[in-house]
Amino acid sequence: MSKKPRVLYVEDDPASRKLIAKVLENSPFECYEAPDGISGLRKAREIVPDLILMDLNLPDMRGIDLATQIKTLPELSKTVIIALTANRESHARELSLTAGCDGYITKPIDQSAFAHQVQEFLDGKREELDEESRAFYKKEYQRTLINHLTDKIKQLQTANYLLKDSTNKLRNYSGKLENLLHIISSLQLCASPEEVKHQLVEQICSHFEFQRCAFLEVKHDSMQLEVSYSSGFSDREAAAFNLPYHSTRIQSLFSRKSLLYISSSRKVKDEHFNRILDVIQATQFLFGSLGTSMPAGDDLPGSNFIKHQLNSLLPDLNRQTDNDIEMVRGQLHEYLSSEMFYFGGFLYIDRPTSGRITPYDVKLLEMLINAASLAYQNLQLRQQLTELFLRAEKDAITDHLTSLYNYRYFHQQLLREVSRAERNKTNFCLLMLDIDFFKIYNDTFGHQAGDVVLRKVAGLLMENTRSSDIVARYGGEEFVIICTELDKPGGIRLAEKICQIIAEASFPREIELPHKKVTISIGVANFPDDSLHSEELVRFADSALYLAKENGRNQARSFDEVSKRV
Ligand code: GH3
Ligand code: MG
Ligand code: MG
Repeated sequence: MSKKPRVLYVEDDPASRKLIAKVLENSPFECYEAPDGISGLRKAREIVPDLILMDLNLPDMRGIDLATQIKTLPELSKTVIIALTANRESHARELSLTAGCDGYITKPIDQSAFAHQVQEFLDGKREELDEESRAFYKKEYQRTLINHLTDKIKQLQTANYLLKDSTNKLRNYSGKLENLLHIISSLQLCASPEEVKHQLVEQICSHFEFQRCAFLEVKHDSMQLEVSYSSGFSDREAAAFNLPYHSTRIQSLFSRKSLLYISSSRKVKDEHFNRILDVIQATQFLFGSLGTSMPAGDDLPGSNFIKHQLNSLLPDLNRQTDNDIEMVRGQLHEYLSSEMFYFGGFLYIDRPTSGRITPYDVKLLEMLINAASLAYQNLQLRQQLTELFLRAEKDAITDHLTSLYNYRYFHQQLLREVSRAERNKTNFCLLMLDIDFFKIYNDTFGHQAGDVVLRKVAGLLMENTRSSDIVARYGGEEFVIICTELDKPGGIRLAEKICQIIAEASFPREIELPHKKVTISIGVANFPDDSLHSEELVRFADSALYLAKENGRNQARSFDEVSKRV
């Protein structure tokens, strides 16, 4: 059985390919297609067609050059090539035949005769030029080929130049990407929000090659945005960066993106911002948000976020009593319901060293800001909670009138001191102090005047004891002092010195008192001489104080004397 002739049609126009396929549908040929010169050549080598129909204007090369190439390949040297074209240029036919085509059919084709025309060529028909024309057009063809190749070389040179340029750009991009990763990982190691600010501003300037960068923060008391850290700005410029913070308006700018690219400062329609841009002489710049505004209130996402953070601090809180935890929660609640609050900050960036902010810069910086934003908000929140917690912790052990330790802390410390002295075989004294006739002072001059005396006595006690001693307000006008590593004679001497200091100190209007001055009485008990137990020590110091009162006040007595009397 004889094989069907193979016909390959090389044509870039899909409509033309469709038409020829339809025209040859019922012909005795096996039809193939290719959309351009390169794939046409590849297909021809693969299927070795008996005939190629070729468009002269292909996207990647001239049809006549393809014909020349095909004719030089031994395996395709017998393939018939027919130029099929709408090309009306003069000499197109002659040039095609010179370049290697065996026939020339013009478009539009005669559909009813087309299969027959093709068959004729398969049967051996050839179009040829006479000798003279052939010689002439050969030269002509070579000339067009040289022109064409010269053009191609120029195009290649341009392409090569563009490629080099892209390679450099890519190298630059991958360098910046590496920098980005480096910065993000260094941000993760930051221990405080301050550190994040510094790192961001410095790294953006050095690694992203911007000359100026500033970190702005919301000052909640003044509701102003202020520069908290900057690089590349003069002091005057940084100080000018003072923007009223309208939370809703500024936040709405960042509803979709965390980084805005402003190609010209003239596009900014805000009088405050414009004034700043004038002072700092801004043209194009980037403005990014590293945070979120959190609505106040207990049921809203912001407060849940804080509660979540608070729970991560609970191991610390667990050391405290339920009351303390409740107090922290209370303060937190107050904080939550006080205002819309903004976690985070803003970044202003401008003056790229390269002179231009590229879309790639914007993309990378946006990624950086998103990552930094999380790190910054977390650290900021953690810092706020820690401060709140420390304040609550200090509150819980402080007497608010005198700023001395309170009864609770005294009690804790007394237990500690007993076990410490027991362990180290050392001694300590417990002094119990009480202001004499304080009721009279209060009744005569009023409660507030009495408070002034209490504060002054507290101050004198602090000034005249060692920093290792624990001075606390026991209650009312009574004080206690735990004097560490002090024996009984030393304790009595200290108590007598304190009595004298108070008696000699001047207090407002004391001269009007029946006794003419404010004085104090002190009882002293010693560990281990008097007792080994904390509660007993307190009781014994109190008995000694009672003895001092009985003996006429303004004096110190030790528990020895009490026990001797019994
Ligand atoms: P004594 O010499 O026996 O200690 O007599 P006193 O008057 O000091 O003792 P008393 O216990 O009768 O009175 C203590 C007074 O201390 C009663 C109260 O008005 C006063 N006081 C207790 N706490 C405070 C306080 O926080 N501020 C003021 N201003 N006075 C207080
Ligand atoms: Mg008293
Ligand atoms: Mg008193």
